[in-house]
Amino acid sequence: MTTISNNDTLFARAQKTTPGGVNSPVRAFRSVGGTPRFITRADGPYFWDADDKRYIDYIGSWGPAIVGHAHPQVVKAVQEAATRGLSFGAPTEGEVLMAEEICRLVPSIEQVRLVSSGTEATMSALRLARGATGRDKIVKFEGCYHGHADSLLVKAGSGLLTFGNPTSAGVPEDFVKHTLVLDYNNVQQLEDAFANMGGEIACVIVEPVAGNMNLIKASPEFLQAMRRLCTAHGAILIFDEVMCGFRVALGGAQQVYGIVPDLTALGKVIGGGLPVAAFGGSAKLMSHMAPLGAVYQAGTLSGNPVAVAAGMTTLKLIQEDGFYERLGASARRLADGLTAAAKEAGVVFCADAIGGMFGLYFSATPPNNYAEMMAGDRERFNVFFHHMLDEGVYFAPAAYEAGFVSAQHDDAVIDATIEAARRVFKKLAA
Ligand code: PMP
Repeated sequence: MTTISNNDTLFARAQKTTPGGVNSPVRAFRSVGGTPRFITRADGPYFWDADDKRYIDYIGSWGPAIVGHAHPQVVKAVQEAATRGLSFGAPTEGEVLMAEEICRLVPSIEQVRLVSSGTEATMSALRLARGATGRDKIVKFEGCYHGHADSLLVKAGSGLLTFGNPTSAGVPEDFVKHTLVLDYNNVQQLEDAFANMGGEIACVIVEPVAGNMNLIKASPEFLQAMRRLCTAHGAILIFDEVMCGFRVALGGAQQVYGIVPDLTALGKVIGGGLPVAAFGGSAKLMSHMAPLGAVYQAGTLSGNPVAVAAGMTTLKLIQEDGFYERLGASARRLADGLTAAAKEAGVVFCADAIGGMFGLYFSATPPNNYAEMMAGDRERFNVFFHHMLDEGVYFAPAAYEAGFVSAQHDDAVIDATIEAARRVFKKLAA
């Protein structure tokens, strides 16, 4: 048997049997260059790679690890659930408890269906919106990612109000001709779209806090206009809170902005690191789902008992007193500390945070939409990324991604990160 010694060896082997060596593209370091780190274990705010180098982890599995890695209570719940059996293909009490908890924490959700990935959640929410309205057209925003369902892998067409182009090979033009792609935070474009074709729009889907074009906050006016226009034209408003749900606040972005969507997609945090996602809304809307209604959706592992045990324990832990205050303070301390360190070094940089999410920008001000985000200095980010990696700090390996803190990122961890960044910004300025 070959002994695996380091990241390079593993990456070379992985590329022989797995496309690009990874099971999800961003992990391949394509954007930043270099060898991806193969992770062997994690604890609290840290993980270790195959060379046993320790990193402060700021991706947290891209969101789920909100209570920190390998939290003893989550691990115990998973172990206990596993001893009772891994999957039954029949309902369990855990699913009832989880549905009740989600409905209690997110008041716009009266009924919820559990699935296994965010992609399934948004794809099913879209089908429900189309099934319930009897309309085909959907509106999404440039730079928002909603998983890899065909109708959502679309970028803007050549002209405003023309339908989109596929962003992936293998997505038929026919599928995306129903998807209209507008600019994030642009109220006028939304008004125009509804004025032109309001009666044909099944739904608007949005990340109310965008985390897939770095971190970009929606303006309140943008989300308010969306709510108003959807209601006026009989379209369904879908908040994709797969990333920002239970992340920017206990009640998600809809609580922060005080806006009630018709449907919400959830994922990441609600599985606590195992595959659980969900979509839900009013009981009336959800009654269109099979077996009650005509909109079909199903899953062999939906509501998996081990995954639900991890998710439920995580949902309990995030309800501890002061959890979001502490989480938000950590992300803010990081954003402000990094901004100050860059300023000292004279590097054009800023950072922002909301709840336990943050964005790092190599631009003078935070971007408001996809085009502004793309105008940032990506080369500089890549150099920063690699120096930070050498310092033992793992940020998302692409300039287009948001970052995440966990409840285990205490002041000492954050301050160590800022100290490392201070050294790195000096190198960048030199
Ligand atoms: N929606 C959003 C907002 C996401 O951030 C993601 C994943 N990053 C998804 C949907 C898709 O989730 P999954 O990767 O679990 O399919």
